[in-house]
Amino acid sequence: MVTTPVLPLEAASPAHICPFDQACSYLEAAGKELKLDQGSLEILSHPRKVVTVSIPVKLDNGEVRVLAGHRVQHSDILGPYKGGIRYHPAVTLREVSALAMLMTWKCALLGIPYGGAKGGIAIDPQLYSVGELERITRRYTSELIKDIGPSVDIPAPDMGTSAREMAWMMDTYSVNVGHAVPGVVTGKPLSVGGSLGREMATGRGVMIIVREALADQGKSLAGMRIVIQGFGNVGGAAAELLYKAGAKIIAVSTATGGVYYPTGLDIPALKTYAAVNRKSVVGFPQAAPISNADLLTLPCDVLIPAALENQITEENVNQVQAQMIAEAANGPITLEANQILEARGVTVLPDILANAGGVVVSYLEWVQGLSYLFWNEQRVNHEMEQLMVQAYHQVIQQSKLRQVNLRLAAYTLGVGRVAQALSDRGLYP
Ligand code: NAD
Repeated sequence: MVTTPVLPLEAASPAHICPFDQACSYLEAAGKELKLDQGSLEILSHPRKVVTVSIPVKLDNGEVRVLAGHRVQHSDILGPYKGGIRYHPAVTLREVSALAMLMTWKCALLGIPYGGAKGGIAIDPQLYSVGELERITRRYTSELIKDIGPSVDIPAPDMGTSAREMAWMMDTYSVNVGHAVPGVVTGKPLSVGGSLGREMATGRGVMIIVREALADQGKSLAGMRIVIQGFGNVGGAAAELLYKAGAKIIAVSTATGGVYYPTGLDIPALKTYAAVNRKSVVGFPQAAPISNADLLTLPCDVLIPAALENQITEENVNQVQAQMIAEAANGPITLEANQILEARGVTVLPDILANAGGVVVSYLEWVQGLSYLFWNEQRVNHEMEQLMVQAYHQVIQQSKLRQVNLRLAAYTLGVGRVAQALSDRGLYP
C-alpha cells in the first residue's frame, strides 16, 4: 500500500473521484504486477517538488485579484520535467499532482527522455480579457523562474492554454534571464521556434491509436461512427483528422453543450462555426442539440472523451454503448467505471498512450530547437507516428504477455522503465 502524500492547501475530493488517489491506485496496481519493492513505490508515489505561487493581477477595471498558480514536478528520473499548463476553474493541487504523475509514465511509455510535471491556475480563461491573461501568464512564469528551464522543466499547452500563452512564457523567461531561450516551452508559435505539426499532434496521435486498434479488430476508420466530447486543441484536431480518414463524427460537444447528426457532421464547417461562436458548437445548423450527459451514451463505434476527467463514472457507465473508448483527455474514466467496461469487453485505449502525440511532438520541437534545425511537417508527423505505433504495439504485446488490460499494460511499461532507472541511478543519501 503506497501512502498518499499530504498535499497542502485543500481538502481531498471524495475518494472515488480524487484524481491523485486514482493515479496512486494505478501506480499501485502496476507496482504489484511488476513486483516492485515498497521503497521504490513510495518514492514514485510522491511528487519530487510541489510549488504554489501567488499571482497578483490588476484587472482591466483596476481591481487587484490574487490567484494561486501551481506547478508539480513529479519525477525527473528519466530527464527534465515535462508537462502542460492548465487554465480551468476545476484546477486543484491534487488534480495537478495526478496529471504530473501521469506525465511521468506517459513519457517513459513513449521512450522519450523526460520526467513528468504539470501546472495550472484555477481560472476560466473565457472570463478574462487577452490583456489580463497575458499579465496572469507572465507573472505566473516570473514566479516560477527558478523552477523551469530547457534542461529543468519545460511547460507546454493544456486545457485553456495554447501557443499564445507559450509565447508569453518564453518571452517572460527570456527577458528575466537576459537572452532568448526558445527551449523553455514547447507548443510555441512557429515564429519563435515552434514545430510544424505541434498544433494537431495530440489529435493526430488519438487518430493513429484508434486506427491501429480498429485494424487489430479487422476494421478501418472509414464509416466508423465516432462521438467526441470536447472540441478544443485535442478534440477539434482528432475530429478533423478522423473526418478526413472517412469516419463519421456523429456528435461533438463543448462546455456549453453538444450537437448530434446521425449521418455525420460536416467537421470543417463545424470548426468554422465554432471559431466565430466563442468556441461553442451549440446552434450549428441542421444538427440536433444534445447534452453532454446524453452524448456520452449515444450508440456509436468509438467514443472519444477529449475534455475533462471523471466523465465516465459508475453512474453512467452502464448506459455507455461504444465498444471502443479512446481516452483523449487525461483520466476521463474512473477506476470503478474502467473495471465495469473491462468486464463488458469494451476496448479502452488508455490516456497515457492515446493522448501522447502532443508530448511526442513537444519532444521533437525541443530536439529541433536544441539542434537549431527545423524539419518539414511530413518529417515531424512521420517521426511521431513511428513512436506512437511502436508504443501501441508494445502495449498490446505487454497486455498479452501479462494477461492484463491495456491500461495496466501501459502502466507496467511506463512505471517499469522509471523504476528500472531509479534502481540504476540509486538513492542519493
Ligand atoms: P481545450 O481547452 O483546448 O479544449 C477543451 C474542450 O473541452 C473545449 O471544447 C471545451 O469547451 C470542452 N469542455 C470543457 N468542459 C466540458 C464539459 N463539461 N463537457 C464537454 N466539453 C467540455 O483543451 P485540450 O488541450 O483540448 O485538452 C483536453 C484534454 O486533453 C485535457 O484532459 C488535457 O489534459 C488533455 N490533453 C491535452 C493535450 C494537448 O496537447 N493540448 C495533450 C495531452 C492531453
